[in-house]
Amino acid sequence: MTFLSARGRLAQVWERAIVRISLIQVIVAAAVLFGADAIYDRLGATLLGGVFDELAHVSTALLCLNLLPTRWRRPILLPALIASVLMDADHIPQYLFQAYFLTVGTPRPYPHSLLTLLICLTFAAASVRHGRIWLGISVGVALHFLRDMAEGSGTGIALFWPLSDRGYAYPHAVYLALMGAVTLVNLVLVERRASGRVHGRSVAPGGAEMRTSFQPENVSSACPSPAVGLAPHGDAVPARGGPV
Ligand SMILES: [Zn+2]
Repeated sequence: MTFLSARGRLAQVWERAIVRISLIQVIVAAAVLFGADAIYDRLGATLLGGVFDELAHVSTALLCLNLLPTRWRRPILLPALIASVLMDADHIPQYLFQAYFLTVGTPRPYPHSLLTLLICLTFAAASVRHGRIWLGISVGVALHFLRDMAEGSGTGIALFWPLSDRGYAYPHAVYLALMGAVTLVNLVLVERRASGRVHGRSVAPGGAEMRTSFQPENVSSACPSPAVGLAPHGDAVPARGGPV
């Protein structure tokens, strides 16, 4: 297998597993979110508790991002999901080395503040080449804060550090209700997107929506372009080794 074909296959797996999540995947993501959240609530800020906390963070980000149209979501999804977890890297000094220099006077380390979000958004606006990556990181950071502000400890985030050390939080029940609503909207959206694909609306690898003339029963005989293949259930997927 060449590097290009391996990359193409990886892109297909990513597209089907993460970008175009199915009804079942939404249910699994929601189960992971609420399950991990409940376990973290019991374990608290331990190493194992941290693992479940990050699972809840990444599934929160995935479900929230899935509310966006595919063409907006696809370019920022990977950096956003990574940032939604890596945001907690600033806890490492205190948990591994008992070094609290990043969190003197604040409920969480200093990077957990709007200043980080502002810096990421500035890079997103200023960078021509990596603007989308920085935009994705910004979204991931914002979604990370969404959960952190509602975690069980109730200490919240010092949003306005360094201007203020005060932590801002909101009730955990509100977060759970919000994510319940996000899950319900996801279920509706995923169903609509699936029926949209079956009825001839598809999305090209570059993100532009396009029309296809096929019907479910003649999928094997219709192909909208040489660069796009059709999966048995009617999804448009990049051809092996083609552009992704
Ligand atoms: Zn955090």
